[in-house]
Amino acid sequence: MTMQKSAKDYANTWVRPEIQALNAYPVPNAQGMLKLDAMESPYVWPADEHMQQAWQQALQAVAINRYPAADAQELKQKLRQAFAIGDHWEILLGNGSDEIIQLLALAVAGSGRSVLAPEPSFVMFKMIATFVGMDYIGVPLNTDFSLDLQSMLTQIRTHQPALIFLAQPNNPTGNLYGEAAIAEILQTAQGLVVLDEAYTAFTDADYLPWLEKYPNLVVMRTLSKVGLAGLRLGFLVGAPAWINEIEKLRLPYNINTLTQASAVLALNYFDILKEQCQQIRQQREILSQALIDLHPEIEVFASEANFILIRMAQAGVIFQKLKEKGVLIKCLDGAHPLLHNCLRISVSTAEENQIFLQAFASVLAQGD
Ligand code: PMP
Repeated sequence: MTMQKSAKDYANTWVRPEIQALNAYPVPNAQGMLKLDAMESPYVWPADEHMQQAWQQALQAVAINRYPAADAQELKQKLRQAFAIGDHWEILLGNGSDEIIQLLALAVAGSGRSVLAPEPSFVMFKMIATFVGMDYIGVPLNTDFSLDLQSMLTQIRTHQPALIFLAQPNNPTGNLYGEAAIAEILQTAQGLVVLDEAYTAFTDADYLPWLEKYPNLVVMRTLSKVGLAGLRLGFLVGAPAWINEIEKLRLPYNINTLTQASAVLALNYFDILKEQCQQIRQQREILSQALIDLHPEIEVFASEANFILIRMAQAGVIFQKLKEKGVLIKCLDGAHPLLHNCLRISVSTAEENQIFLQAFASVLAQGD
């Protein structure tokens, strides 16, 4: 009697081995917890402004029975205004910048083609390279998380990667690599360099003007970190020659109607969101200092983003104990050799940061 093959047998036969070897991007259950793990904004829209009401009206006016505007012209126009994007650049919209990373990889994928990124950095650079069957070259940062420029340049010359991802500020380290290093990479690379400015709202660094100088550069941004993570809206800015090609890979209606309407509305009130980001910047400095003061053995890395990376002995244990106290941060111990004993904390409001600090202090006071 022949055994009936199970779904697992079929899946094992057909799903590519490199996909079977992956772990799905982990998203922990955060219900009821103080959520400081994912760089979200802690702010909702102010009730005393007209914003909430205007939003509800905008959503009511949405024709939910119709497909979304495929080219999202109104939204793109708002983005141009909010981010001062010149008319000579094109904009591509993604369902989060995650999707844009995927579209970029799809556009250049092919046998023997590679993606290069410093590491540790945003994990999706590597994962998506694997999704599309590209080689991935991770170039370790220095131990202080600065860029190892010589190693980067050597690897770029050796592998001639089709795609290079530079997150500025970098996640999870929070730092900038510096303009001189980035300029050298852009000059050395023969492939496309993507400056991922997901955390642009929290730094003065701004690589958008560099589009004028470098034809192999595109700049990627997202609304996720400025209080709109639930909308899933990322965008890529660059020369029409690049964007028009990548646009062909975008699924026709990837930005849904509710997102388009909500983002247009939110961008009308962009000053409020920017002000909230300024608050987070201030809180970042206060929280960094409080962490330095909390215990001499906590190493606090300087951050240009809306999170802070720290290193301390027993980081995994501390993470668990904080979780038991209802505080969820991100444990990076084990994620990369350079992140040994590292924890990442999203910066929140003064009140929430205080709750976190108190929980942290009481965990440390337990002492084991
Ligand atoms: N780039 C970087 C550097 C990130 O840290 C993140 C989110 N953590 C993203 C891109 C993706 O953001 P989203 O898909 O929400 O736009």
